[in-house]
Amino acid sequence: MNVFDRRYELMPRAELEQLQLERLQAMLVRLKRNVRRHRELIGETRLGSLADLSRLPLTAPEDLAQSFPYGMFALPLREVIRLDSIAGPGGQPLVIGHTRNDLAQWGRLVARQLVASGVTANDVIQFCAGGGGLRSVSGYMLGAEVIEASVIGDDPFHIDYQLAMLQSYRPTVLVTTPSNANGLIHMMAQRKIDPQSLQLRSILLSRPVDQATREQLQSGLFAAVRCNFGVGEILDPGLSVECQAGQFHAHEDQFLVEIVDGELVVTTLCREAMPLLRFRTRVACEISREKCSCGRTGVILKPGRRLDHRVLVHETPLYEGQIAGVLAQSRAAGQPFEIKVHERHVEIQIRMNSTLFTDMVWPIENLRHEIESEFLARLGIAAQVRFVAPR
Ligand SMILES: [Zn+2]
Repeated sequence: MNVFDRRYELMPRAELEQLQLERLQAMLVRLKRNVRRHRELIGETRLGSLADLSRLPLTAPEDLAQSFPYGMFALPLREVIRLDSIAGPGGQPLVIGHTRNDLAQWGRLVARQLVASGVTANDVIQFCAGGGGLRSVSGYMLGAEVIEASVIGDDPFHIDYQLAMLQSYRPTVLVTTPSNANGLIHMMAQRKIDPQSLQLRSILLSRPVDQATREQLQSGLFAAVRCNFGVGEILDPGLSVECQAGQFHAHEDQFLVEIVDGELVVTTLCREAMPLLRFRTRVACEISREKCSCGRTGVILKPGRRLDHRVLVHETPLYEGQIAGVLAQSRAAGQPFEIKVHERHVEIQIRMNSTLFTDMVWPIENLRHEIESEFLARLGIAAQVRFVAPR
């Protein structure tokens, strides 16, 4: 059976819940001692059982943004050896810190996914995550080191070069995003390259996809597809493992998961640099406690849509406010606009008023170029701007 950490992944429920309670109590002590915000919020609340968790305060992404950069750290900065930054609510930056132990644990959690996907020390892993996927690549690299699989330490942005690497290095595992996987399939079809001529056995996708997409990618790249479900503010990858039965098991020895009003709420149990108490992930989710044929005892997460205004453009997470922000600082500021999000670009329709409206084409063309290059420069995404006449 493909299980990396039999002790924790297969731990009987009663034992697992006892472990969670002990780890939670220790974590609360650390939080109260070291993070001012929590000292005040937790107060004298004591936990006799896991059910008491609901008496503790929730943490929202906005709380992380307000404590930017280091207000949520539970250790002095000198003990934090990696700082990852991600886009928080409305595009404000958030910092996620890791100690040496945090990174080592992250590697072991990702190793669970690699082993569940059949990856071994004999495999060669290629990354095709591009741009926004850098953090997830660093997680997979840590996991690959743990199981001693070889990695190609390069993640070129160009799909053309990716394809050349697939043909020359002959990797057996590809870590990628659904849209890059699609891009590769299209390019191989154009160049009449048979996917069976590659050595790929496994595709590890950065996020969950529906069954139809999974099958299409499987046949297009002639390899088995496994998905990741993670949360950027916590660990992504590394929150859960997709087993051979296609279920996402939460790593419950490391995280406490709850559903509050349909939203996934996660408490980290062992994180040192930045423990999170009842963090609202803004992801709609259901939890199933059915027994799974794989034998793992961690609850099954069934993630759904985002509950905030975050969208993915070319796999880069963006908030609608960030898109509006680029327009607000352009010469088209104040004009009514509509945004349509496509897989690889955003389409923006701007309604001109009489000051913008002109019979001449070039000022409008200039403005369009200006806005489109601002989107590329500031958000790293392609935009297609169209102007429509005033009503
Ligand atoms: Zn399972």
